[in-house]
Amino acid sequence: MLKTPSEIDIVRATATKINEVDFENLAFGNTFTDHMLVCDFREGQWQKPIIKPYEPFLIDPSAKVFHYGQAIFEGMKAYKDENDDVWLFRPDENLHRFNKSAKRMAMPEVPEDIFIGGLNAILDMERNWVKKGLGNTLYIRPFMIAIGSGVIAQPSTQYRFMIILSPARSYYSGEVKVIIAEHFSRAANGGIGAAKAAGNYSAQFYPQKLAQEKGFQQIIWTDDATHTKLEEAGTMNVFFRINDTLYTAPTSERILDGVTRKSLIDLAKREGIKVEVRSVLVEELVNAAKDGSLKEIFGAGTAAVVNPIVGFQYKDVYYELPKLENSFALDLKDKLTKIQYKLAEDTFGWTVKV
Ligand SMILES: *Cc1c(COP(=O)(O)O)cnc(C)c1O
Repeated sequence: MLKTPSEIDIVRATATKINEVDFENLAFGNTFTDHMLVCDFREGQWQKPIIKPYEPFLIDPSAKVFHYGQAIFEGMKAYKDENDDVWLFRPDENLHRFNKSAKRMAMPEVPEDIFIGGLNAILDMERNWVKKGLGNTLYIRPFMIAIGSGVIAQPSTQYRFMIILSPARSYYSGEVKVIIAEHFSRAANGGIGAAKAAGNYSAQFYPQKLAQEKGFQQIIWTDDATHTKLEEAGTMNVFFRINDTLYTAPTSERILDGVTRKSLIDLAKREGIKVEVRSVLVEELVNAAKDGSLKEIFGAGTAAVVNPIVGFQYKDVYYELPKLENSFALDLKDKLTKIQYKLAEDTFGWTVKV
């Protein structure tokens, strides 16, 4: 799958920035590696990709991305094992989802050789930026924007696909308290909630700000029609443990098909944990919290892997979760990260060497 240099243009940076980076104190998503991949789509075709020094670029002020938000992205990570080999985790899932998002946003699909081949080529050049040791990762941000000019409200005919890379350390997010959405919605049937579209994120910023002002770090989104079903936690899928069963909602037009979510389901089942993929009602959660059968709530996504939640608020009542000895969330996180760093056998065949 690795593209040969004849299929990809490469312009190397004259110097590396790596020696200026404090890898022990990285703020998430603020530092980028020396190179970026750029591939343009015009006249109905993808052009030759180029890997070149990371730098700003010019786009016309009338470009459709600025006015109509034709923009999608992915979030993935690269890991280094003890032998200095670099690994990806289920990259085919990200390619597949990227193209699903592209289709929904009337954007062209990116061919596998550009997405996966390009990713391998740039990661091969940036190997030194992937640091060894649990918790060190290189966060990968593939994205596509509409760069065609003209403010007429129709899909662009020109697009830019890019990959940028940001070294990251896993961080402790502090205690996460959530509020259950009673008015705002993240997604609706027939909408773009299942796509990783930029607008899904900006639409959350305002309700999130209101929640933060009340002392909550995250919102648990409910279905838009009735606000009775629990769907996602912020920009993560969400799991509930009631007694010793794990529950998570099925993916739908409103719920994003997370790679972490589906990997955790498979892992939990392998561990002999009972998993039920079905909608959990707000009412069930409140009752389970009251009678003590609610043990855990956690978010699942690539950035934080697993994000334990300490309590939730619903209709002005706050419910605190018990402190547990044997947390499913932490156990599953440990097992998943060990597979990603090649510290445990990957019986699922999820890891792919760069
Ligand atoms: C990206 C994302 C997730 C998590 O997906 P992963 O593939 O596990 O990173 C969950 N929900 C939403 C809304 C997302 O955008």
